[in-house]
Amino acid sequence: MPKYIDSHCHLQDCTDINSAISRMTAAGVVGAICNATSPTDWDIVVDLSQKYSCVYGCIGVHPWHIAGLIPGWNDKMREILRRFPTLMVGEVGLDKNHPNMPTQESVFISQMKIACDMARPIFIHCVGAWERMLHILKLNRRNLPPVMIAHSFTGSVEIMQRLASEYDFYFSYSPVVMDTGRVRVAECIRMTPPNRILVESDNSNPAVVVDVIRRIAEIKSIAMNDMADIVYKNTIGILENGQTAQNAFTVWK
Ligand SMILES: [Zn+2]
Repeated sequence: MPKYIDSHCHLQDCTDINSAISRMTAAGVVGAICNATSPTDWDIVVDLSQKYSCVYGCIGVHPWHIAGLIPGWNDKMREILRRFPTLMVGEVGLDKNHPNMPTQESVFISQMKIACDMARPIFIHCVGAWERMLHILKLNRRNLPPVMIAHSFTGSVEIMQRLASEYDFYFSYSPVVMDTGRVRVAECIRMTPPNRILVESDNSNPAVVVDVIRRIAEIKSIAMNDMADIVYKNTIGILENGQTAQNAFTVWK
């Protein structure tokens, strides 16, 4: 049976974590990268990643949760990342449908700097702000995190190609792709190099990534098991790359 890893989930929102983990394990989903969204859930995500060997944690401030950040949040973030060398950075980013873009940008840039300094992969949420994101990436070209992932990517083919060729981005596709009416997403998947593709639930049910891969395999006319193997290797590569960049561990967990 092929193995799968959910590259972006929110297991902290689960009402019954044990049954979510049993369900994912039964479906062949051997790992889940759990993204925090604000300082209030960092400890929960860290605890989950310590308690369950299949859970990989990320801490960060989501652009929807920038209001009310307490000064010193970034020092606390660095301190937790220092204590847990396998933790990554996420979910962070920009969202034009939410207020206060200048603060969103400064919070995002701070977290990119943290991910760069501490050599951690970063999971990026970006809605309606890819041109701005590209501008920020260009300005910080010399200080970028070792691995960057566009989570639940629904941007255009052109943006995907720029991010892939200029910044080596990975593109994580979510259950949005199962909507056959989303023609632009399907076209983007068709054009995404297989070695840049990841899959995610973006919720608290990682088992759903099996259906996401089935849809991607169909769009790309690649056999389901082959597609699953490619995506699994891509995700393991990200986890290892973060570790190699830190030069702290030879194996991940
Ligand atoms: Zn998310």
